[in-house]
Amino acid sequence: MDIPVLRTQNPKAKPQSEAGLGFCKRFTDHMFIMEYNENDGWQNARIQPYGPLQIDPASPVLHYAQEIFEGMKAYRYEDGRIGLFRPMENAKRMNRSAERMCIPPLDPDIQLEAIKKIVEVEKDWVPKSKGTSLYLRPTIIAEGNTLGVHAAPRYIYFIICSPSGAYYEHGLAPIKIHIEPNYVRSVKGGTGGAKTGGNYACSLRAAEDAKKHGFDQVLWLDGKKNRYVEEVGAMNVAFIIDGKLITPSLSGSILAGITRDSVLQLARDKGIPVEERQISVYELLDAYKVGKLTEAFGTGTAAVISPIGEMVFKDQVMTLGNDIGPISQFMYDTLTGIQTGRIFDEHNWTMTLA
Ligand SMILES: *Cc1c(COP(=O)(O)O)cnc(C)c1O
Repeated sequence: MDIPVLRTQNPKAKPQSEAGLGFCKRFTDHMFIMEYNENDGWQNARIQPYGPLQIDPASPVLHYAQEIFEGMKAYRYEDGRIGLFRPMENAKRMNRSAERMCIPPLDPDIQLEAIKKIVEVEKDWVPKSKGTSLYLRPTIIAEGNTLGVHAAPRYIYFIICSPSGAYYEHGLAPIKIHIEPNYVRSVKGGTGGAKTGGNYACSLRAAEDAKKHGFDQVLWLDGKKNRYVEEVGAMNVAFIIDGKLITPSLSGSILAGITRDSVLQLARDKGIPVEERQISVYELLDAYKVGKLTEAFGTGTAAVISPIGEMVFKDQVMTLGNDIGPISQFMYDTLTGIQTGRIFDEHNWTMTLA
């Protein structure tokens, strides 16, 4: 695929220091973009200066939330090279989300080429310090000029990039979780398994309320019985109970995280027993009371591993403490080590760019 590059005439100043990068607070000079229409399919791939998109105000993405996205990172190795982590998994998941949201799929090889090309163009934006990366946000939005509720005639795929530090400003510090007893994020048969904006729009109310009460994130329970653990904000969740790593199974209402999958593999490699199954909040409370719940953590590309220090369900508090558990720490060190080329990658997860 030929991807022409239209370079910006006004390059932005690169951040002076990598210390206060924050997460996705600024974007690079360029973006990848391509469009779909019914006659030509996906076409017109190009890289152009980062800037506003012009779309019809009647576009379905604005009214009916027909959109999907991905989240991945480009990492700087110690030797200066740049690597991607399991990028094909993101491309394949994009198409699974596309199928659910009636969006035309985009050949995973084309997605990968687009990702590699934008990273190559923006390579000087990939930060070098520990814990930093270039966060990539491939997105598809539905475009059109009528308000009828149906799949759109046109789509835009774009990738924007942000030099980012750690997801949490204070680094790998345990977070405080509100277990949400009322609101739900997704139900069986809904869109919870797709990476789509609507799942986030409907989660904001509970997240904002939880923040007001001093929590970092919401742990969602299932939409039917308000009983079984689903996931945490933008992360999957795992618990260490009696030495076993237990995580909710992929029932369709939670996202199939690539970090989740990698953590399960690393646990199996290490001989940690793994269980993918339903786990109720009452099982957590019981395990906590007898001292068998020793660790809990979120898994996701943005934060990698997010140790949980406290979980509150109604008036019951589970305190896991401010020390980072050994399995949480092992997962964080191993994953970030593989992602940045410091640890041997026996699963062939990384893809190094020239
Ligand atoms: C992106 C996302 C995750 C994490 O997926 P990774 O592939 O590990 O980054 C988990 N839950 C939700 C709702 C997400 O959107």
